[in-house]
Amino acid sequence: MNHFEVRSGELHCEDVPLTRIADAVGTPVYVYSQATLERHFNVFREALHAHAALGEPLIAYAVKANSNVSVLRVLAALGAGADTVSEGEIRRALAAGIPADRIVFSGVGKRRAEIEFALTAGVCEINVESEPELELIAAIAEQLTLQAPVVFRVNPDVEAGGHAKIATGKAENKFGVSFSEARRLYAAAAAHPHLSPLGVACHIGSQITDLAPFEAAFRKMRGLVEDLRADGLAVERLDLGGGLGVPYFNAPEPPTPADYAAMVARVVEGLDVRLAFEPGRMIAANAGALIARVIHRHERPEGRKFLVLDAAMNDLIRPAMYESFHDIRPVLATNAPPEPMDVVGPVCETGDTFAQGRSLPALDSGALVAFMSAGAYGAAMASEYNSRPLVPEVLVSGDKFAVIRRRPTYEEMLADETPAGWL
Ligand SMILES: *Cc1c(COP(=O)(O)O)cnc(C)c1O
Repeated sequence: MNHFEVRSGELHCEDVPLTRIADAVGTPVYVYSQATLERHFNVFREALHAHAALGEPLIAYAVKANSNVSVLRVLAALGAGADTVSEGEIRRALAAGIPADRIVFSGVGKRRAEIEFALTAGVCEINVESEPELELIAAIAEQLTLQAPVVFRVNPDVEAGGHAKIATGKAENKFGVSFSEARRLYAAAAAHPHLSPLGVACHIGSQITDLAPFEAAFRKMRGLVEDLRADGLAVERLDLGGGLGVPYFNAPEPPTPADYAAMVARVVEGLDVRLAFEPGRMIAANAGALIARVIHRHERPEGRKFLVLDAAMNDLIRPAMYESFHDIRPVLATNAPPEPMDVVGPVCETGDTFAQGRSLPALDSGALVAFMSAGAYGAAMASEYNSRPLVPEVLVSGDKFAVIRRRPTYEEMLADETPAGWL
């Protein structure tokens, strides 16, 4: 459920007509519904709270899905933690008021300066992905004379649907250590004066629409916790990652948070660990839309019809990168009959195609359309490709809206470039 709906023939975000935002801020523009962000977080939390076996888990929102500080503030106010993958994301989470002891630092290639920053800030865990990384963390912790809280990210070697580019849980993927490495490294960390091994973690991929791969992975993780304890090691945390899919328009229906929570409760029954979850997409995706204007509509002599928008792949890369489907809706109701059209942006490559043969009303130049389910991996992945200024973002709450990241000016876009001295 989200708070984008048609009222009197016009698509609204909560109580604000999208036309009003497009007129005030220009297009393309991302629009987020605060009530929807809150709803998704609360639905997930309540699903977990329904099971005593799950205790009081940490819900560390995966910042990379949508890293706008206002979005993080909305979630921080509900008690969310943050799953971060760079110093920049840690800084964003802190700027949003998420306490360091609710920030998880993940990622397959953390740099020395980032680890120093994370340890000094006091993050609650660094999810370690390899032996060299563990050695680096140990050396830094020793230098800083502190104890590094480490959790081992294990690659559970399960096949988890989704798109190949976002599957992370097979042994051939770059992520995490194997079960046997985890046992060896955990024991080494426990013996090290500057490392505090706290637990284990997994994250098997994104946009997963079936509970079976989660369950398979989580059962293996439970087995690992038991093996580590049998080795005489203390394990207090189990981080189960993110990855729960969302209902995109034409995609398989994902499991509900309630079904997901019930499955987790069955798997961890009696294990006595503090759980952590790292949902990203399921919180943000359906809380956001990208609004674009039609530049023109044209038809090739051989009959193919194109709707050319002022949004492009640099603003929303998911269709080009992952073959993703986004529902595209006219912002104002129209009686124009639907026809199959290719919806494209102005960027000079054929990859800049949002949809092919999509049935849409024959909209005229200037009409507004909304790409639905664009709140996750939308603005966060935007770029200035083709020297198009970075797309702005707007947050709506009830009948209010605020620009939470403005569109840079062309002067700003050029300001960081210094021509080489010899030119
Ligand atoms: C990307 C990522 C997530 C979030 O995945 P979603 O599919 O957005 O829920 C969680 N944890 C880690 C380690 C990630 O890399």
